[in-house]
Amino acid sequence: MGTSTPVHTHQHVIIGAGIIGLMTAWHLQQAGKKVLLIDRVLPGDRNQTSYGNAGVLSFASFRPIAEPGAWQQGLQGLLKPNSALKIRWRYLPTLSPWLWAFLKESRRDKADANASAILALNNHSKTCWQSARQTLQLSDLVEATGWIKLFESDAAFQAQLKQTPLLDSAGLGWQALTGHEVRDLEPEIGPAIQHGFWQKDSLFLRQPHHVIQRLAEVIRERGGEFRQENVQALQKTQEGLTIHMQHQSLAATQVSLCAGAFSQRLLATVGDNVPLETERGYHIMMPGCDTLTRPIMHVEKQIVVSPMLEGLRMTTGEELAGLDAPADYRMIQRKHKLLTALLPKLDRTIKTQWLGFRPSLPDSKPIIGRHPRIQGLTMAFGHGHLGMTQSAATGELMSQIILGMDTAIDTEPFSFARFGNTRQ
Ligand SMILES: Cc1cc2nc3c(=O)[nH]c(=O)nc-3n(C[C@H](O)[C@H](O)[C@H](O)COP(=O)(O)OP(=O)(O)OC[C@H]3O[C@@H](n4cnc5c(N)ncnc54)[C@H](O)[C@@H]3O)c2cc1C
Repeated sequence: MGTSTPVHTHQHVIIGAGIIGLMTAWHLQQAGKKVLLIDRVLPGDRNQTSYGNAGVLSFASFRPIAEPGAWQQGLQGLLKPNSALKIRWRYLPTLSPWLWAFLKESRRDKADANASAILALNNHSKTCWQSARQTLQLSDLVEATGWIKLFESDAAFQAQLKQTPLLDSAGLGWQALTGHEVRDLEPEIGPAIQHGFWQKDSLFLRQPHHVIQRLAEVIRERGGEFRQENVQALQKTQEGLTIHMQHQSLAATQVSLCAGAFSQRLLATVGDNVPLETERGYHIMMPGCDTLTRPIMHVEKQIVVSPMLEGLRMTTGEELAGLDAPADYRMIQRKHKLLTALLPKLDRTIKTQWLGFRPSLPDSKPIIGRHPRIQGLTMAFGHGHLGMTQSAATGELMSQIILGMDTAIDTEPFSFARFGNTRQ
C-alpha cells in the first residue's frame, strides 16, 4: 500500500470507470469540474460488468426482485435443473445477512415503495439517455429498437399485462403481440412462442463497451484524467479523504465511490458494512449478429439474446456465490441448448464466454448519495440488473448532489442511511 505522504489533488476523484463512474465524471465535467478517474482496468475492459451485459436500457423494468412470494419462487427455482438462480452452498453463511434483508424487503408495502422509486429513476434516466445520445453523438451505438419479451404460456403473459397501468401512468410505451406478430418483426423466432410484449421505449446499446470507450474518449478530450491503479483503502482525514493505492496515496476533498460490486470492499476500510452482494451473470457470444434486429427475452426460460456488433450475445444467470468463486459455465451452457427451440436456424457455435458481477442491494435500488459520516465522500453503486439503464440519471444526480444543487428527482429512497447503522 502507498503509505508515503499523500499527493494532494483539487480534482473530483472518481473511483471506478464503469458506466456509473463515467456518467458521473461526464456530468461533473458538464458543470465545469475537473475530474480524475481511478480504475484498475481501462474503460471498456472485459473485467468490467459494464462490458458484457445484454445492453438493454429497460426503463419499463421497475419491479424489484424482492416481492411477496419471491422467497418461495426462489426456493422452487433452486430445485429446478434449468433455473438461472444458483447458490453456492458454501457461500450461504456469508450470504445470510443479505438474504435476511431481502426477505424483509419482500413485504407488499416495501416492494411497492421500492417499485415507485425505481420507476422514477428509470423514467428520469430515459430523458437523460435521450439527451446523452444526442450530445455524445451515440446514435450509431444507442438504438431506439425497444426489446421484446417472449412467452410460451398464457399465464406468464397475463402476469406481464398486469403491469401495464403503471407503465401507462409513467408514459412508457408498450405493445402486446401475438406469436404471428412477433415473427413478423423477428422472423427467426420459433413457433413455440405464443405472445410478445414489446417495450417500445427501451433503447439498445449495440455494443456496451464501445459506448463506454466513446464516453471515456469524450471525458479525456475535455481534460479528464484516467489513472490505472488498484485502490486498496480509503482513509478519513480532517480535510476529506486519502485514497491509498498500490504505488501512491492521494488526498482529495471530493471523492465519488463508483466501484460496482466491489464498493463494499472499499467501504470496509472506513469501517462500514452495507449489504451489497453480487448476482453473478454470464454471457455466451455466438456468430450471427444479423439474426435479430433487437434484443429479445424468453421470459419462462430466463434468457436474453441481443444482436451485438460482434455477434449474438446470450445472457442469463443469477448466481449467488460472491466475488471470488471461479466461474461455473455449466448453467449457461445448459441454457444455450434451449436456443434451438427459440431460434431454430441459429448457428449456436460458442465463440467466447464471460462472467460479470451485478452489484446488488436487497431492495433492488442503488445507493446514490452522500456518506453520512465522511465529508466529501459521495457514492453510486448497487444498480443490480439495471446499471446501464439507470446510469445516465445516476451521473446527473451524483453531480447535482456533489455540487449542492436541487436534485432532478427525490434521492431519499436511494440513501445510504436506509440500511440503518452500517458501522462494522
Ligand atoms: C449478464 C448481465 C446482463 C446484464 N444486462 C443488463 C442490461 O441489459 N441492462 C442494464 O441496464 N444492466 C444490465 N446488467 C447490469 C449492469 O451491467 C451493471 O449494473 C452495471 O454494469 C454496473 O456498472 P458499474 O459501473 O457500477 O460497475 P462496473 O462496470 O463493474 O464498474 C466498476 C469499476 O470499478 C473498478 N474497481 C472496483 N474496485 C476497484 C478498486 N479497488 N480499485 C480500482 N478500481 C476498482 C472496476 O475495475 C470496474 O471497472 C447486466 C449485468 C450482467 C452481469
